[in-house]
Amino acid sequence: MDCEICGRKIHNNKSIISLERTTMQVCENCSRFGKIAPKRSIAQKPKSVIYTQRSNDNEVELVEDYFKLIQRARNQKKIKMKEFANMINERESVISRIERGQLEPTVQLAKKIERALGIKLFE
Ligand SMILES: [Zn+2]
Repeated sequence: MDCEICGRKIHNNKSIISLERTTMQVCENCSRFGKIAPKRSIAQKPKSVIYTQRSNDNEVELVEDYFKLIQRARNQKKIKMKEFANMINERESVISRIERGQLEPTVQLAKKIERALGIKLFE
């Protein structure tokens, strides 16, 4: 299990926090970025969207198949994962986990991906 904020392996004390209106599994170090989530809110995650966050005063919702859209767009543009990671200034391992649906990008990161690939990731 990797921390959803810093991407480091969580060795001990996994914390589930709520940040804005989403819940994330993070390491002890990153748990200070949010509130420890009540267990109930995890089960109540909506099905159609991954998370809702406020960004520039607009509510944005990440689409459920974001990882398929990213992978398809990147392959269509024949951009290697490593090149794509460089384009948006992220680690290749982060892109790899996002494309497998194992990591939900933050609004900020998803917007960078949208611009880099010319796709829409928000509803
Ligand atoms: Zn962390």
